[in-house]
Amino acid sequence: MTVFADLVGQDQAVAILSRAAAAAREVVDGGRGAGMTHAWLFTGPPGSGREDAARAFAAALLCPDGGCGHCDQCHQVLIGSHPDLESVRPAGLSYSVKQTRELILRAAGAPTQGRWRVILFEDADRATESAANALLKAIEEPPPRTVWLLCAPAPDDMMITIRSRCRVITLTTPGTEAVAHVLATRESVPWETARFAARAAQGHISRARALALDESVRRRREAVLGIPRSLTGVGECVAAAERLVKTAEEEAAAATATLNEAETAELRRLYGEGSTGKGLNRGLVRGGAGALKELEDRQKSRATRIKRDSLDAALLELVSFYRDVLAMQFGAAVELANDDIRFDLDRMARESTPEETLRRIDAIMRCRERLEASVNPQIAVEAIMLSLRGA
Ligand SMILES: [Zn+2]
Repeated sequence: MTVFADLVGQDQAVAILSRAAAAAREVVDGGRGAGMTHAWLFTGPPGSGREDAARAFAAALLCPDGGCGHCDQCHQVLIGSHPDLESVRPAGLSYSVKQTRELILRAAGAPTQGRWRVILFEDADRATESAANALLKAIEEPPPRTVWLLCAPAPDDMMITIRSRCRVITLTTPGTEAVAHVLATRESVPWETARFAARAAQGHISRARALALDESVRRRREAVLGIPRSLTGVGECVAAAERLVKTAEEEAAAATATLNEAETAELRRLYGEGSTGKGLNRGLVRGGAGALKELEDRQKSRATRIKRDSLDAALLELVSFYRDVLAMQFGAAVELANDDIRFDLDRMARESTPEETLRRIDAIMRCRERLEASVNPQIAVEAIMLSLRGA
C-alpha cells in the first residue's frame, strides 16, 4: 500500500508521478534522474483531489522508499508536519506578493533531511498578478533541490509563462463506484450509504466523505434540495433565499471558528502573553499587537471566502437537482445524482418543460458568476429564487 493508493481512478497521473519519484530518488543518490521536474501543476475539476495528489507526490519525494505510506517521513507529510514540506493555502480571496516573497525565501533553504524541499501551493490560481510574477521568477531559477507543486482547477487558470515551465498533471473526476469503494473500504461506511454519498457528491471525494460521515452535512443537503418544491410564491422565494444564505453563513462560521481559535492561541503563545487581561492586546510583547491585527485581517478575509464557497456549493447542489430533472425529461439513461429524492424529481419533470429546466440551470450559473463578482449574496440569491419559480 503506497501513498498513491488513495488517488481513486487516477491511474495515468499515478503512473507519471511514480516514474518521476523514481527519477527523483536517482538524483538524491547522485544519479542523473532523467524525467525529474522542478515545477509541477496539478489540475482537475473540484473534488478530483488535486491537493491529495500533490501531497502524495510530496510523500513519494521525501520518503526513502518512494512513498511507502507507513514510515515516519510519509506520515509527517500526510499530517502536514514534515520539516521539508511547506504547504501554503491562500487564507483570503487572493495570495499577495508579500506572502509569496516570504514563501520563496523559505523555499530556497536546503532540505533538512537531505532529500528535497517541497512547496505545495494550493489554489495557486488565487495568487495576485504581482504574486504570480514573483512565483514565476522562483520557478525559472529553482534551487537544485527545491520542487514546486502548484494546484489549480485548469492549466488556463495560471499565467502562460508559469504554466509553460511546469509539467502538467491532469486529474479526472472519479466514477461513483470508485468513490463508493474508497468510502466503504477505508472509512468502513456501509455500502448503501457509500453509494448514496458517492452519487450525491458526483465524484467529489471529500464531499462524499462528509456526506457519508456527517449527519449535519446530510441535513443541509436535504434543506437545499427541498428548495425547488417550496418556491410557490414570492414570499416563499424570499424566505428560501434567506435560508440558503444563512445556511452558508452557519457552515462558514463553524469551519472558521475552530481554525481561528487555534491560530490566535498559537500567536499569543509566540508573542509571550504575560497576563490574562481583558483587552485583546493586553500582555502581548512588542510587535504582538500588530501581528494579532494582521492575523485577524487574514481570518476575516478567509471567513468571506469560506462563506462564498459554501454558498457556491449549495448552488451547485441546486444545479444537480435540475440536471436530474432534465435527464428525466429527456428520458436519458444516466445515473441520477439525487436518486434518493426521485419522487420530487419526477414531479418537477412532469410539471415543467425541458426549456424551463435549461433556463433554470442557466439562471443558477449566472448567479454564481455574479456572486464571484462580489454582488450582495442575499440580493443575488433572491433574484435566482424568483426566476426558479417563474415558469
Ligand atoms: Zn514512506
